[in-house]
Amino acid sequence: HAKRNGRDRFQLFSAALAQERQRAVALETGLRAAIAAGDLRLHYQPKVAAATGELTGLEALARWHHPEYGEVSPDRFIAIAEESTLIIELGSWVLREACRQARAWLDAGVPLPPIAVNVSAGQILYHDLVAEVTGVIDASGVPPELLQIELTESVMAKDPELVASALDTLSRRGVTTAIDDFGTGYSSLSYLRSFPAHAIKIDQVFIERLTDSPDDDKIVRATISLAHSLGFRVVAEGVETEAQRDHLLALGCDELQGWYIGRPAPADSVPEVIARLRPGARQSPRRQGSQA
Ligand code: C2E
Ligand code: MG
Ligand code: MG
Ligand code: MG
Repeated sequence: HAKRNGRDRFQLFSAALAQERQRAVALETGLRAAIAAGDLRLHYQPKVAAATGELTGLEALARWHHPEYGEVSPDRFIAIAEESTLIIELGSWVLREACRQARAWLDAGVPLPPIAVNVSAGQILYHDLVAEVTGVIDASGVPPELLQIELTESVMAKDPELVASALDTLSRRGVTTAIDDFGTGYSSLSYLRSFPAHAIKIDQVFIERLTDSPDDDKIVRATISLAHSLGFRVVAEGVETEAQRDHLLALGCDELQGWYIGRPAPADSVPEVIARLRPGARQSPRRQGSQA
């Protein structure tokens, strides 16, 4: 009986695996088609100065509405793209689209802050990210200072020298860089020394329980102090409450990003967000914050 049971369970298990595999293949096929057809979208999420609430940047986040499965989470479709060269095509599209949109806003007189674009390891390791970025900047005529590249510690860990040299070249062109999801990679401290990055973004797992976990408070406090002493700006990700904002402000965090400030939203809502958060547009950070 035990043997029989085990075999049934194995068959169930392998059926589930096969189904999952089938879905992954369907998603990959669909994603390939969506990229080719221009069916992906970018949403934009604001970042603000912690002290004043004024807009300091926008982050472009990829969105995909699958005809059958509906909205697919970026964590899912980025992971699928990263398993193949699809991530290079996806990454190119994101860079081109962000710069095309930035150009359109500039042409319309929208006072645009820097736009941050997320970059995956494959875009540096198996592709010439520097040539790609400079090509897109030159073609779109977007000032390099208006583009920021976000990459995670895990990207850096794959080939530190190559990544450092790419970031260095980009930063000499005027493009700024930020280390994303800081604190969740393996390599936080050793790379900080040598990476030509401008900002670190403290991962939202440390912000989540910041106000009631003394350990998270200590980690965030120490991270801010370390980052500042090394010359990085510090951005907190996933700020959802006024209490978190107040706490981060007291710890000296430079910039905030999260639902409390503003959710990622489609391009057509961005001029409004910019008008609301633009330097000088705000009467009181507290009042504006509570409307977000
Ligand atoms: P990320 O770059 O760390 O982006 C932050 C994620 O946190 C986003 O999820 C954002 O929607 C979410 N978020 C922002 N504020 C809050 C908050 O207050 N509370 C909570 N709970 N979540 C918040 P999203 O859009 O689902 O993207 C997930 C990840 O997918 C991104 O993490 C990034 O690593 C990746 N990704 C998204 N777009 C791209 C892209 O164009 N290229 C690459 N390579 N990766 C991308
Ligand atoms: Mg990011
Ligand atoms: Mg992040
Ligand atoms: Mg993340």
